[in-house]
Amino acid sequence: RSTCPLCGVEEEGTYHALVACTHARILWVNMRARWPLPSDDFLIDNGKEWLMHLLSTCSDDVRDMIIMLTWRIWQLRNDQTHGKEVPSIPNTVYFLDSYYKSIKLAGSYSTEEILKGKMSSSADQISVQRMETPALLWPAPKSGTVALTVDDSFQEADGSAAAGMVLRDSDGRVIFATYRVLFYCNDSLEAELHAIMQDMALAIHHTTLPVVVQSSDFSEALASLSNNALVPSAYGHLVLEIKDLMSSREFLPQKIHRSQNRVADRLANYSRSERTTAVWLNSVPPCIEDLWPLDCNTINLQ
Ligand SMILES: [Zn+2]
Repeated sequence: RSTCPLCGVEEEGTYHALVACTHARILWVNMRARWPLPSDDFLIDNGKEWLMHLLSTCSDDVRDMIIMLTWRIWQLRNDQTHGKEVPSIPNTVYFLDSYYKSIKLAGSYSTEEILKGKMSSSADQISVQRMETPALLWPAPKSGTVALTVDDSFQEADGSAAAGMVLRDSDGRVIFATYRVLFYCNDSLEAELHAIMQDMALAIHHTTLPVVVQSSDFSEALASLSNNALVPSAYGHLVLEIKDLMSSREFLPQKIHRSQNRVADRLANYSRSERTTAVWLNSVPPCIEDLWPLDCNTINLQ
């Protein structure tokens, strides 16, 4: 028996390092909010083979999650022991969750490959990138509301413009996704106002709930939902139409970060470059199929 370098408890061993140590515990507790991990009652130190026993009681998906979690706990433990700086708990939770999702989506790693360390090199790269430019999760709307996430794409060179948007419920399920080419746009502000107006109208038809309107740029357009600054402008008629829509439904503007708006951004760019317009009801356009599951905060296991 020796003293744990991290928490000072007189106990060394894989069970302590991966489950009982404070540093491990806090990750188990936080990951449970994302993953259906076994409760503490199942995390039993029943000898050298405790981890194998635990894994043998779990479904394939949960087994992969436990392997990823303990692998990361072990890595971070080593880093900490060697005095290296380690990412914050939310960063680690985000990293593991998005890594798990991308592996599941790619379908290209088996548990064996994960164990052989195939993923560790690329995982380290992701972790480093994340610390340099922190990506934020898409903010799901509160239950009882829906979120209309909007973005536009505007090219000054040829004046082409398009809008992309997606209406999602509080679980991240897609109610509709649209992308549309916008004509006769003078600038990106007009494009954004058009986009917001058309899709607010569409949202009213497809949900009875209050709508949070999420946008990552052109906050001038988004602000027109809550002030009258643009009414006397050249786009006053658009603003008035937006105000009219707001009289029949509650719309709450929310500014989000670019990194939280990848789905709508992809839709808008796809629409502008392909010059195509479409509405997808209760389904997901192929051009965002790989992106939108990463926005959902929960994992749906069968
Ligand atoms: Zn410890």
